[in-house]
Amino acid sequence: MIRKVTGQMVTGDELPIHDLPNYPLTVFPTTMRTNELVAYLNEYLAIATIEDRSNNGLQVEGAATVTKVAFAVDACQSAFEAAREAQAQLLIAHHGLFWSEVRLLTGPHFKRIKTLLDANVGLYAVHLPLDHHAEVGNNIELCRLIGLTDIQAWGQYKGQPAGYGGSLPQPITLNQLAAKIDALLNTQSRVLSFGPQVIDRVAVCSGGASFLIPQVQASGYNTYFSGETSHSYYHDAKDYGLNVIYSGHYATETVGLKALARHLESKFGLQTIFLDLPTGL
Ligand SMILES: [Zn+2]
Repeated sequence: MIRKVTGQMVTGDELPIHDLPNYPLTVFPTTMRTNELVAYLNEYLAIATIEDRSNNGLQVEGAATVTKVAFAVDACQSAFEAAREAQAQLLIAHHGLFWSEVRLLTGPHFKRIKTLLDANVGLYAVHLPLDHHAEVGNNIELCRLIGLTDIQAWGQYKGQPAGYGGSLPQPITLNQLAAKIDALLNTQSRVLSFGPQVIDRVAVCSGGASFLIPQVQASGYNTYFSGETSHSYYHDAKDYGLNVIYSGHYATETVGLKALARHLESKFGLQTIFLDLPTGL
């Protein structure tokens, strides 16, 4: 299938766009200026308007033009090496390298940066703006994944809705929903069963979001689908009478990046690759 080529052609190929349709896109991949893609991402993901511990946006500058964009949940040595092997010019990570604390460029942290610089791969980080995004966010994508209808925002976190939730097409058991999630996300959920066994409404928040349990209950839900937890929150789930399905921080935060990749493919014709580096957590 030939996709529409909408990105700016800055490679040496001089063929006008109307001569392209007989060729697969891989022959003439779109190349665009990295600073134009970054400007688009900054605006589309509204990174300036969302308070976050992550320094969202371009964290490490790489090649001036981009043809292939890699995506990974975590900015880490193995992701940088995989991006280099995939010959991507930009890596978009949900958990970037630079957070609110200062971290010196020594030891393994220096090696990470050096890998990016040597390979001329740029790093773009997008944390909470990707969780919350109304089109390609982790939370909205998880709602779509499990087939929720009547999807609505619930709760508050740093001035944004805490998550999204909605209704299942028909009531199912808690274990049926957990099994469905496991199959869809290739994960193994941990289930806390402190609510009704047959469920019809679910609140969703990706990643580490157990601290939101009181807000889940206050928003009228008795089943919560999230990423990871710790011992400290066990009694919150129990005392607030909630079912909680913890499907893994990693697994629940793959979906937004994949949706963003599809968006960039269709918007600009860029090549994309998702670097699957699961942590099992
Ligand atoms: Zn996360």
